[in-house]
This record gives sequence, structure tokens and C-alpha cells, in this order.
Amino acid sequence: MASPLFLPTLNPESVRELLLTLAVACLLFCPAVLLHGAESAGTAIKVDQVGYPQDGPKVVLVGVEAETFEIRRSDDNTVAFRGQLSPPQADPDSGDRVQAADFSRLRKPGTYYVEVPGAGRSWNFAVGKDIFAHTYYLAMRGFYGQRCGTAVDLGPEFPGYFHPICHQHGEFHPSSGAQGTRDNLGGWHDAGDYGRYVVNSGIATGTLLWTWEIFAKKIRDISLKIPESGNGTPDILNEARWNLEWMLKMQDADGGVWHKQTSEHFPGFVSPEEDTLPSQVIGAGTTPYKSTCATADLAAVAAIAARVYQPFDAKFAAQALEASKRAWAWAEQHPEVLFKNPAGVSTGEYGDANCKDERLWAAAELWRTTGEAAYNDFFVKEYAAFLPSLDSPPAENWSQVAPMGLWSYALGKRHGSDKKAIEAIRARTVAAARAVVERTRANPYRTSMTAKDYVWGSNGVAASYGVYLLMANALHKDREFVEAARDNLHYLLGRNTFSLSWVTQVGEHAYLHPHHRPSGDGKHALPWPGLLSGGPNAGRQDDVLKALAADLPPAKIYADQLASYASNEIAINWQASLVFLLAGQLR
Ligand SMILES: [Zn+2]
Repeated sequence: MASPLFLPTLNPESVRELLLTLAVACLLFCPAVLLHGAESAGTAIKVDQVGYPQDGPKVVLVGVEAETFEIRRSDDNTVAFRGQLSPPQADPDSGDRVQAADFSRLRKPGTYYVEVPGAGRSWNFAVGKDIFAHTYYLAMRGFYGQRCGTAVDLGPEFPGYFHPICHQHGEFHPSSGAQGTRDNLGGWHDAGDYGRYVVNSGIATGTLLWTWEIFAKKIRDISLKIPESGNGTPDILNEARWNLEWMLKMQDADGGVWHKQTSEHFPGFVSPEEDTLPSQVIGAGTTPYKSTCATADLAAVAAIAARVYQPFDAKFAAQALEASKRAWAWAEQHPEVLFKNPAGVSTGEYGDANCKDERLWAAAELWRTTGEAAYNDFFVKEYAAFLPSLDSPPAENWSQVAPMGLWSYALGKRHGSDKKAIEAIRARTVAAARAVVERTRANPYRTSMTAKDYVWGSNGVAASYGVYLLMANALHKDREFVEAARDNLHYLLGRNTFSLSWVTQVGEHAYLHPHHRPSGDGKHALPWPGLLSGGPNAGRQDDVLKALAADLPPAKIYADQLASYASNEIAINWQASLVFLLAGQLR
């Protein structure tokens, strides 16, 4: 951190920036200092605990009936802004009545809180130029913390967040059609458990590579302080490669890709290095043993990799392209080999009844990368059936990747691309995004969420709305798309019914007990930082949620408890959507 001793050499603008940086750093790193001021803060006022860009809309929500509000400076409690609250609005999804405190006209960078007579004060937050940069950094470091087959150390910034090398020994499960031991290093632990899954890796890694392709200028210079930092390759690509190399290892000699590599059942709540269950490559059980969805997902992601790594490591890019083409060919020969857990295996299944959307995505990415007609032909023949998927945002998830294929085709703009297809994809995405903007504005909590969206991983749904809106913006620039995407980020960072930040160690009131083995191993007072919770889930698939009151509205069905895997697990797919959403909000 810069020393205040340097202040006299800086111009007033720089001084303001530096003070803001210090204030934000303090907000993130010295909550004890601020606790005095924040001790009366409660959950009645719902604020993005990271903050608001100085030149955008700034809205806080108040859950207690009142008429006026004040924005006060955190350092000396003086009033920076006074305003009237909007009339109360009932929110059926949470059962709350909320009023909006709009202070968009306050543009001066600083650290503030909201004071509402009768409701108390809010958590501290920042107004500034590039306030989400540090959260982006932490969210990306979240992936580093999930690395398997290596020692991980978050360094002096987070002392004690360390684990020695884990899962060094791998072998083939009988269901894979192969046998013996195998090189087991690489990949990310998928979620709260230590399994590695090609299908969920597909959308997560693909989303990170797209984050680079679409927002390169914003993130190029952000160091993630990972072992590869400074090697000449942008750090987001360094981190994505860690998983990509494992995905490539999951490809068999015939081009097909095994579905997953996990133990037969989930391990106990132990540190990664303490999990001694055999890590096994698990296949479909009968010939051809690999699965179509996993194979097509690899084809898609490796085709993106062939583009984005080209300037930094041409040899790796060529290797990825070759793997992608072989995977494509395998999936053409085996278009519908579905995966079900073989007998005796109970880890995540990631089953999917239809792999055509995965093949569509692969075709679009291969066409975009190579310009070879066969991929374009497949896409043009098949895309129309998938256009309706764009009409129901957020549309994409690990089992539904058609939007990824459609958007990539439209963004690729290759000579020979089908203009009618591109126009249809663009028009439908923009129309659906406009509807989402309207809905988000009308929603009392200013999110794009609807009652049906409070499912397993609902915070990932909120982040995916952000992805959808930012993709619409990539196809057709519109400031309102970016702002509505940001509204969903505000929801995740504290502007929600719980007044809770759903990213670990981000904000003064962040959730504490993720279903995440490295955080729940009893060795850490706070969870590993930067990780997005799954969020409220009306499906109530775990005992903690089942025990909650029967009449709770969907947005309230959440428990910050380690045992609530259905509402409080972390996962690389929704973590990647969060990263994309954050990157889109950087300057
Ligand atoms: Zn591991």
C-alpha cells in the first residue's frame, strides 16, 4: 500500500484517488477499525457493500418505512447528501416492502454509509471510479484457490490460506474402459467437493476465455499474484490454462473425452491434501466410454483457446486446436452418448439428455477460429432450432450452452458467415435484453430475478442475467444493458433481502459458512476469499432448507450454514459468471 508520506508530491486528483484507494483498502482489510462506526449497522438497509461507480446510478434499498435518508461520510459522519425515499413497494419474491434511496447525483469519490431515521445506518460502501477491480481480483483468485494437484498459497494478503499439494495419485475407474494409474495433476476442484468435471469445466473455462476476448482492455494489466504472473501472458489466461490443461488430459487417443475425474463418493469435510480417496477417471461404463456432451464441450473450449492463446503461446494454441478438431470428429461419430453415474459412483453427475447444443457451440467456436466450411455448414443447418432459447434469459447454464454458440457465431463475423443467422441472433438477444431491463427497473429489489429463478445456484442465475445483458451490449451497445447487469451485481454484493454480500470476505457483512471443504476444515476463522455462494433455493434439497419455515417466499429460502449445500455451496460455473459480470463493470 502506498505511504501517505508521498502525498505532497501528488496533484489534488491523485491525492483524492489515493485517499479513496486507502479508504477502499481499509473497507476490505481493516473492518475492525470501521467496526466502531458500523456497529449500529443492520440489515434493514440494503446496500452494495463494495459500492457504486461515481458516474452511474446509485440506489440503496430500505426495508423499514421512512421518508428521508442521508448519505454520510464514513470518516467524520458528516452529511454528503440528503434525499427523499421513494414510496414503498411490495416485493412478493421476498415478502419485503422496500423503498429506494436514490443518490445518483452524489459523484464525489469516498467512503460513505446511509443513515435513515428510524432504520439506523448501513454498512460502509465506496463511490469511486473503478470500484469493482479488487472484487474482480478476489473472484479470479478464487479459481487459483481451487487448483488441484499443486500447493496453493494466497500469500501475506491472506495468511494461513494455504494447502500442500493434493490428489497426486489418479487411476482409471473400470467404467472408463481403461485401466491403471494416470497422471492426475491439474484442474480446479469443481465446487465444495474435490471432483473435477469436464462439463462444468466447459462452461466455466469457456466463460473465462470469453471474459478475456470481450474485456481484454479492462483486465489486461490486473495481476492475480499467481505463480505464473509476469510470464508475459495475461493472468486470466494463465489461470484458465490451469484447468484447460487438465481438460485436455481427459481426452482419449480416439478423440473422445471422459466425463469426470472424482472419487466414487464425496470425501468428508477435510482439507484437499487430507482427502485420500482414489481420484478416478470415470466413464460411461460401456463402449465408447466417453460422453458426447463432455467431448463437445472440450471441442468448444479448446477452439476458443486456439484463438486466445495464439499471441502468447502459439504451440499451445496449435495443440488446443488439434484437440478440438479431434473432439469434434468423435462427437460427429457419437452424437448422443449420454452419461449416467455408473453403479457405485455418487459424485456429481452433470447428466444432460441432449448434447446438440454442446455441438452447436463447438461448431460456432471452430468456425470462428478456423473459417473451415464444415463447421459453418453444421451451424447454419442447426442454429434456427436454438434461437428460441435466447427469448428466455438468462438462457445459458452448464447443460444449456446453445446461447454460447449463437453469440460466438454472431460475434465472430467471419467472411462467409450467414448474415441472416447473425441478424436473428442479434435481434432476439437485444429484444430479450430490453425486456429484462424493463423488468429489472420494475423489480422492487432492482434485480432481473423472477420467482422461478430461485433455484439451486440462484446467485449464478443472477450473475448469468448479467452475462446475458453484457452479451447483448457486445452485440448492440446500450448503456442500459450495462447498468441492468450492474443491478444484478449490486444484488449479489448486498442489495438483497438479507443485506448480505454473497462473495466471501467482500464487504462488511459477507456470508461466512460456504459449503466448501477448504473453508470448513476447522482451520480458518473466515472462509477462503472471493467465492460466490449458491444463494436462495426454493427447491430446498437439503435438510437445513427443509427445516426453514414452510411459508417462506422464494428469495428468503437460504441459510448461511456449511451443511446447506443446496443454498450455500460455491461452484466454478457461477464463479465464472461472476467474473464475467465484474469484468464488464471495470473501466
Ligand atoms: Zn486436489
